[in-house]
Order: sequence, then C-alpha cells, then structure tokens
Amino acid sequence: MVQKIVCHKINKSYEGDGITTHAIRDINLTFNKGEVVAIVGPSGSGKSTLLSLIGSLDKPTSGDILYDDKKLADMKKNELADFRFERIGFVFQQFHLLPTLTALENVMTPLFNRKLSYNKNERSKEILAKVGLADKLNFFPSQLSGGQQQRVAIARAFVHEPDWLLADEPTGNLDTETGDSIFKLIFDMNQEKGCGVIYVTHDSKFASKANRVIYMQDGYLINID
Ligand code: ADP
Ligand code: MG
Repeated sequence: MVQKIVCHKINKSYEGDGITTHAIRDINLTFNKGEVVAIVGPSGSGKSTLLSLIGSLDKPTSGDILYDDKKLADMKKNELADFRFERIGFVFQQFHLLPTLTALENVMTPLFNRKLSYNKNERSKEILAKVGLADKLNFFPSQLSGGQQQRVAIARAFVHEPDWLLADEPTGNLDTETGDSIFKLIFDMNQEKGCGVIYVTHDSKFASKANRVIYMQDGYLINID
C-alpha cells in the first residue's frame, strides 16, 4: 500500500510555437494515506496537470514525485505502468468509456492481460452492483445517462482496489443532483476501502467535503487562511 505521495519542488512547462507555458511552478505537497483532498482554482491554473503528474500519467520538467520512498523518475516504464495499475484509479470529467464495449466490459478493461487471484468477471459484476448498475451490465455507454456512465467509470477505477483515486472534475458534466450522488459514492468508497481521494472541482460545496483543500493559481499553490 502506498502510504504517502510526495511532490518535491515540481515544475511542469510545455513548449510550443516558441512559447513556454509554466503549468506547475515549484510545488511541494504531501498526501497521506486515506485522506480526501480537493484541488480548486481558476481554469488554466494547473489543476489537471498536477493530477496527471501525481498519477504518473506525465512527468514533471523538474523536481521529484515519490510514492513512499520510491522516486517515479527512477522506475522503469513497465514497473511504473504496473505500479500505476495496482495503486491508482482515475476518473475524468468526460467519463472516457469505450463506446463499443458494454458496461461490464468497460469495467473489466484494466484487468485485461493481468494475472490476478480473483475472478475478473465476478469482481467486475460486484463493483457494478455496488455503484447501482447491477441491471445494466450489458448496456453500452450510449444507452446510459451521464450519471450512469460516470458510475461505470468509477467502477472501472475501483475494480482493482487502488490505494488512491484521482478524479478530475468528476461531476463537471453532470447536473447537481447526479453530481451529489457521484460524490457520495466516491466518499463512501473512501470510507469503506480506506483509499485516498484527490479530486479537482469547481464547486465549493464539494470542495468543502474534503479533509483539506488546495488552492492553485497560475501554476502556484496559494495559501488562503
Ligand atoms: P486546469 O486544469 O487548472 O484548467 P491545466 O492543468 O489543464 O489547468 O493547464 C494549465 C496550463 O497548462 C494552461 O495554460 C494550459 O493551457 C497549459 N497546458 C496544459 N496541458 C498542455 C499541453 N499538453 N500542451 C501545452 N500546454 C498545456
Ligand atoms: Mg483541468
């Protein structure tokens, strides 16, 4: 289990058309096992970039990210991919379900080609039942509402029981009531499984439910106290 994620002086810049964009500037942060952390800030302030760095989907331009004592930069590509699979679950604003696969098949995709001690099909059905979709196993994404699609995405993120859930505006495309139920589900999973949750939100109501809120502006962390 990854107890701690540490960002040590991380920077991320993007180069393009002779312009350098500093998406993340000199960020130091520690996330502890099981905690629920909200990231808020204006559009373009670096929230998604920070989340993708924390989740090892992208690499910082400088600085280090550590999972416990392990530096991500020191890990081989395969080792990092395995590590990400075992430890991290992702949920995005746009759901990112595969349109030609059923709900059940979508949930099973992270398990594909992996040797696991449990029955993949049974595990996936159980988690879909848990998110309230036991009767929608064979539905395609286009046959599901936005809220139901996000539930499938949450089931997919949790199917391998990650230590951390990273969610980038998970209710950004949903109406308020559906958004409430999605956050309830995420917080229930935190309580039940003890996984840490780091999420980006624009909604102060959802941010206030976190143990801690991180504010970003122009790539910097800012203190509001
Ligand atoms: P937020 O999620 O807070 O809206 P982002 O992390 O998406 O902010 O973006 C931060 C800054 O980095 C923005 O100025 C954005 O345009 C820029 N940026 C993000 N991703 C890329 C990329 N792949 N290439 C170039 N610039 C990027
Ligand atoms: Mg974003």
